[in-house]
Amino acid sequence: MNIRTQLTLSYIGIVLLVLFSMGLYLGSALKGVLDKRITSELEVQASLTREFLIEQLPDQFTYEEIDNLVDRLGEAGNVRLTFIGSDGRVWGDSERDGEALIEMDDHSSRREVQDAKDFGSGMIDRESTTTETEYRYFALPVERNQKLIGFCRVALPMEDINFALSRQQRMLLYASIVGSILAILFGIFSTGAIVKPIKKLTQITQSIAGGEISSRVEVKSNNELGQLLQNFNLMTDRVHEQIDKISIEKHRLETILNNMNEGVLLVNGASEITYANPAAVEMLNLPDMYVGRALIEINRIPELQALLLEAEQTDTVAYAEIRLGNLMESEAEVTIVPVAAESEYVIVIHDVSHVRKLERIRADFVANVSHELKTPLTTIHGYAETLLNDSSTKSKKRKEFIVKILKHSARLSRLVSDLLELARLESGDVELKRSQCHLNSLYEPIMDIFEPVFDESEVILKWEIPESLPQVNVDHQLFMQVFVNLIDNAVKYTPDGGEIEVSAELGGTNSEAVNEVIVHVKDTGIGIPLESQSRVFERFYRVDKGRARKMGGTGLGLAIAKHILLCHDGRIWLESELGQGTVFHFALPIIGQV
Ligand code: ADP
Repeated sequence: MNIRTQLTLSYIGIVLLVLFSMGLYLGSALKGVLDKRITSELEVQASLTREFLIEQLPDQFTYEEIDNLVDRLGEAGNVRLTFIGSDGRVWGDSERDGEALIEMDDHSSRREVQDAKDFGSGMIDRESTTTETEYRYFALPVERNQKLIGFCRVALPMEDINFALSRQQRMLLYASIVGSILAILFGIFSTGAIVKPIKKLTQITQSIAGGEISSRVEVKSNNELGQLLQNFNLMTDRVHEQIDKISIEKHRLETILNNMNEGVLLVNGASEITYANPAAVEMLNLPDMYVGRALIEINRIPELQALLLEAEQTDTVAYAEIRLGNLMESEAEVTIVPVAAESEYVIVIHDVSHVRKLERIRADFVANVSHELKTPLTTIHGYAETLLNDSSTKSKKRKEFIVKILKHSARLSRLVSDLLELARLESGDVELKRSQCHLNSLYEPIMDIFEPVFDESEVILKWEIPESLPQVNVDHQLFMQVFVNLIDNAVKYTPDGGEIEVSAELGGTNSEAVNEVIVHVKDTGIGIPLESQSRVFERFYRVDKGRARKMGGTGLGLAIAKHILLCHDGRIWLESELGQGTVFHFALPIIGQV
């Protein structure tokens, strides 16, 4: 049963109960009032009749005179009127005439007459022995000069009284029925008015529960229900605000998690993954449907499992450096934090492969620099000591030793200045003294440096740079260094009689626009093996250490060239075939012109 039916039924119940008890009370009260009124009317009529009779009655009277008078008065009053003599004889009756009147029996024993005689008035409801109908009688003594001359009696048929009474009760019943119908209609209407907002509220709460958070109830009244609806709307606004705040926070958190380099993973007590950010997905190589799957099932990293177990058992933060799988070969710092009360664990994976690689490179670099410095220093030290200790050494030998000392000290000096240059370029503090220049303007300075070398090794330089090429905006001195290092290498690693070709063209990083000048330095030398091609730009990397050192190289030339180009927003790469030759390409962006 819904609330409206319940309310309506109880309302109707109350109304009916009230109407029923009021009907009962009013019925009996009205009956009493009507009864009293009829009686008092009879009394008034009897009194008036008595006064009239006292005045009109002659001292000596006959049946006929009295009866005529009584008939007239009875007809006027619309009642049965009887005049009874003090001896009980009936002298006049509005219902009896003539013989019938005379034959009427002695009325002195009638109760109302007795009471009138004894108490001044008498009233009774009883059946008339004369007419055999029920009457209400009211009798008063009639006296003249303090002498009783008879009784005047007024009678009303009970039928009339009962009819008047039942008419009243019928009226009451009709009024009750009409009242009940009106009350029921009003009840239905007013319960409707109460239930309607509640229904609306129910609908709105349902739609809010279904996700329609912006739904609001329309408030029409200011009563308690209206206030309830208003408060509900207020509450919904607050909830909406809170949800907005939470979604902003969530979005913020998601953005952070999605864009951070650290992998973040959530696992539950059963080691099942409940969340993983993109970095974690990539680091652990998680499949598409990883949520709800056990971590060990997807990624068998024993160290990670052991760390998780440690966090579970100790219920504290566990930390370890772990190698993440054979495929990725990456080293990671893994921190596992238990989330209190949730029996969940946050796993944060910080990939430190790059840091470790840098650390290794740094360590290698220190070792390389020490080694590179130590070799010439030991040689210089050895020759200098021999010269000092052995004065008998022939002057030709001494000269040879001094030349070697000079050669090694020159190498040391070259090494140190290359290292300084590289450190300067790597620091990013280099202030480029840029100016526009055409590549062909470099030809003469290059020939000044290399002409004797070319002559000696019979290597030919072919300079094939078109005049139409636009100028480049570069730090002239540094840019010259790139050419010198590349041509120097080409000469060093090209057998006598070989050929070096320097050419250039326009190019672009995207197919539509021409936005860079690309230079090629090609030789017909020994070439670089495939496995070394990606490493020749590393510091101190040399394909053949012995040969390179003999050639006087420091192993820093290509690293310096690469950094000079990086400073100019350029890039460098190579193509090579063993025994056939090598081509170094480098590209420079054209700034402000084509
Ligand atoms: P280096 O001073 O030893 O020449 P670089 O950094 O200039 O040092 O070069 C690194 C290594 O790359 C060289 O040791 C050499 O093995 C290789 N290399 C560089 N240029 C060439 C080339 N044109 N042909 C063959 N090998 C080359």
